[in-house]
Amino acid sequence: MARNITINYGLLSVAAKYEPATVRAEPMVNLCVGQPTTNQHDPSPLTMPKHCTTCGPITDFDAIVKGIKTPDGYAVVTQQDVADAKKANVEQFKGKIDIIPFTTGQFMTATGQAGSVQYVTPVKGSEDHYQLLLKLVQEHPELTFAGQYTPVSKVALYRLAVRTAPTGEACLVMEERSREQSMKPVPSTSGDVNEALFDLLEATLPKMEQPYDPSLFEDTYALAVAKMAIDAQDTVNVKSSSTEKATAKVVADDDLAAKLKALAES
Ligand SMILES: [Zn+2]
Repeated sequence: MARNITINYGLLSVAAKYEPATVRAEPMVNLCVGQPTTNQHDPSPLTMPKHCTTCGPITDFDAIVKGIKTPDGYAVVTQQDVADAKKANVEQFKGKIDIIPFTTGQFMTATGQAGSVQYVTPVKGSEDHYQLLLKLVQEHPELTFAGQYTPVSKVALYRLAVRTAPTGEACLVMEERSREQSMKPVPSTSGDVNEALFDLLEATLPKMEQPYDPSLFEDTYALAVAKMAIDAQDTVNVKSSSTEKATAKVVADDDLAAKLKALAES
């Protein structure tokens, strides 16, 4: 489901909507194909943990099979199928990650942001080799060092990056990325670039750019909650503050041009 958002950059205000860009891989589901006391039927997922729409309450859990959703229904897979697939695809990516350098622009465009970020630190005796790798990654931002790895049971895609503290101390991080195959097709976005407007917009960059200050993006909600926890004598009652709706206000080009001009000349 798409939600509304207004993206503001200085005087440019873009009314937009956003939606998830990735699809989840279909998980394995429990299917009923018929109980000992009923007729066989096409595989159908259990509606409740112990209920089949055709058979009613499940009486024999040994008759429940595993399956995967297909465009036409459900395909039954055996324990052996799953074990074989796991052996072939998951086992080879356990315990190690083979890193290949790719052109950063290409790699980042073809993949998407995914959940986790992990700090990677050397074990004893491996410190110097670790620093070699860190320096290589750090000194080549034009390259992305990526590979596949299985933390638990799924083969995930990771890129190595370097996170540097303000003190200059640096550590390797492993960032999970979404593969092209789990990204939905890129939605079409209509509209044209008005070059005169673009020049005005670009001219605001020197005025707009500022040194990055982490306090700009502090999690003020978390800070407020922490303060409440300290202040509260009894129960802390937190109400959602997400009631403010994004407005979808469209600004005319002429208005924007006038405002940008005024800003550039100010
Ligand atoms: Zn059934």
